[in-house]
Amino acid sequence: MKTDVKKIFGSNVFNDAVMKERLPKAAYKKMKATIDAGAELDPEVADIVAHEMKEWALEKGATHYTHWFQPLTGITAEKHDAFIDPQSDGTTLLRFSGKELIKGEPDASSFPSGGLRATFEARGYTAWDCTSPAFIKETPHSTILCIPTAFCSYKGEALDKKTPLLRSMQALEIQVLRILRLFGNKTAKHVTTSVGPEQEYFLVDKEKFLKRKDLIFTGRTLFGAMPPKGQEMDDHYFGVIPERVLGFMEKFNEELWKLGISAKTQHNEVAPAQHEIAPIYDQNNIATDHNQLVMETAQRVADELGLKCLLHEKPFAGINGSGKHNNWSICTDEGENLLDPGETPHENMQFLLFLAAILRAVDEHADLLRLSASTPGNDHRLGANEAPPAIISVFLGEQLEDVVEQFVDNGEATSSLEGEEYISGVHSLPHFQKDATDRNRTSPFAFTGNKFEFRMVGSTQSIADPNTVLNTIVAEVLSDMADRLEASDDLPMAIHDMIKDTIAAHKRIIFNGNGYSDEWVAEAERRGLPNLHSMVDAIPTLTTDKAVKMFEKFGVYTKEELESRVEVLYEQYSNTINIEGLATLDIAKKQIVPAVMKYQRKLANGVAELKTVGVDSSVQEKLLEDITANLKDLFAAINKLEADIPEAQALESEAQARCYHDTIFTDMSAVREPADKLEMLVAKEDWPMPSYGDLIFEV
Ligand code: ADP
Ligand code: MG
Repeated sequence: MKTDVKKIFGSNVFNDAVMKERLPKAAYKKMKATIDAGAELDPEVADIVAHEMKEWALEKGATHYTHWFQPLTGITAEKHDAFIDPQSDGTTLLRFSGKELIKGEPDASSFPSGGLRATFEARGYTAWDCTSPAFIKETPHSTILCIPTAFCSYKGEALDKKTPLLRSMQALEIQVLRILRLFGNKTAKHVTTSVGPEQEYFLVDKEKFLKRKDLIFTGRTLFGAMPPKGQEMDDHYFGVIPERVLGFMEKFNEELWKLGISAKTQHNEVAPAQHEIAPIYDQNNIATDHNQLVMETAQRVADELGLKCLLHEKPFAGINGSGKHNNWSICTDEGENLLDPGETPHENMQFLLFLAAILRAVDEHADLLRLSASTPGNDHRLGANEAPPAIISVFLGEQLEDVVEQFVDNGEATSSLEGEEYISGVHSLPHFQKDATDRNRTSPFAFTGNKFEFRMVGSTQSIADPNTVLNTIVAEVLSDMADRLEASDDLPMAIHDMIKDTIAAHKRIIFNGNGYSDEWVAEAERRGLPNLHSMVDAIPTLTTDKAVKMFEKFGVYTKEELESRVEVLYEQYSNTINIEGLATLDIAKKQIVPAVMKYQRKLANGVAELKTVGVDSSVQEKLLEDITANLKDLFAAINKLEADIPEAQALESEAQARCYHDTIFTDMSAVREPADKLEMLVAKEDWPMPSYGDLIFEV
């Protein structure tokens, strides 16, 4: 084994083992009480922890620390501070205090705040999230101690994605514990959500990437004719991983392992040049931090190896884009997974109640879940035939579907389907019990054995938002259920009726069929399920009365915080499409049109030459004619886009986002269409950028 995995795993993390070893016993105990049970942290302990953290970081070669946070940009932010404390004699001590560990004041007033904060209100604070361990980010040029933090304004409003996530985890925990008590569990103290995000990405050659201005500026290709071969042979999916990519994966895994990220599974995905990495699941906020590091590390390692990692949801039109499957379950500190149905789900009333609660939550707040997976990039996938549709539905699988149906039809469930024996017909192959349930790749929200897999999430996204929504909507339903059950004098009966009634009322959200089919779109409409086509359509769901009431009730977002998110989302959408529009113009005007004209000239000269020697030039003339016709279309489309962009730029907020969606986006497609046709008419050597084929088949 080249890599000593045991040795490097977690070597850059200030984890429990390090704390146990380095902290005095009493301090360690207090720190653990804060991490595990949310006990308030004693300032003295903070000083001790800070000192040890610094000493540990110095040993690792760090000179700086940073409060690492997750602003509304969706990526992470850091501002480095050296440990130095200069002395009067011209030397320096190296210090790091408890105060500095707990709280930072990065200013950071230029991050999007959606109006929560004016630029002159410069104070913003970062607060240590001690439940996610500090770590060292080691890159070829720097070694930085990173302290995961939440980011809030002077007035205490959340300016980040982590604070609402932590609030939602807390909200869910309280409600789940209430339900568990009703089932007689008096011992569980702590409940968390476990999350395992599977991350898809593309790898392309860096030199080629650098010749594509669209990839550089927007992360996706704005032009590009389909190569003769796409993904139709399914020969890339789970195929042998190319050497160069394996080299990347090896380094990538090593870097993740050092950060204590349990990178576990890797494989080629459906599209050529597309791959996936899945870690082992972790506590919700840690999984969120880790996923940010996964995305960042993938990009850094790729770059170091002469590659580029594309995280965009749709880097290439015509082949599959990338998503992020958010596997989610609820677990107690006693190790019980509350979404584990056991062998006989029909008898497991506790599981069935949680299941019913989730069905109701997803049905009642499908719009919010849809929004939580909205990015400008994901608009290319949701509803197109590759990712789950924009319509939210739940896949339960045969076994649970059967139990649920028994409840609806007979008022109770008396049996559970069992997995049949696998019989291959070959004596030498093992026989085994199959799962009781098959899978469904097309469902946006699928039960997969002991967890739900929310499959709509986009590959660039922070998973904080989807999980914040999920935790809160389930907390809301559980809270209502607990209120009613706690007031009942016949608890078993009340639980039974609640399961039955909830399932009957929210059955419409269950769909086990092909979510990619047109029939489903029609059927979903008949069932009254929302179908929000784009991010712009979905944004208003965040501030409906129903959403505001829920988020405020559980202390996850205030109305002002929600309104700020709405503004930020519109702004992000508009900015993204604005950049794409400008990049489309830039490339079309400065690269494509000149290249086409040059080629036209070549052809025209060719025609003239052939004519002087009396040779038939009809082929050249026909080609010239086709090229000229497309060039004219291209020119007209460029002019329209160029005229429309300033109109969009002059608008604001929702009206602006709508204009970018309805007009600019359409204009961009109109530019692309003739340009892609021209790519097929102009000689390869004269086309100004690498083709799709070059990018995805020659990594
Ligand atoms: P599947 O075969 O359903 O895709 P895998 O075992 O490959 O499931 O896991 C996919 C992801 O789901 C991994 O990140 C895994 O750690 C995570 N996962 C597994 N069990 C759970 C659970 N109980 N809660 C949350 N995530 C889980
Ligand atoms: Mg999966």
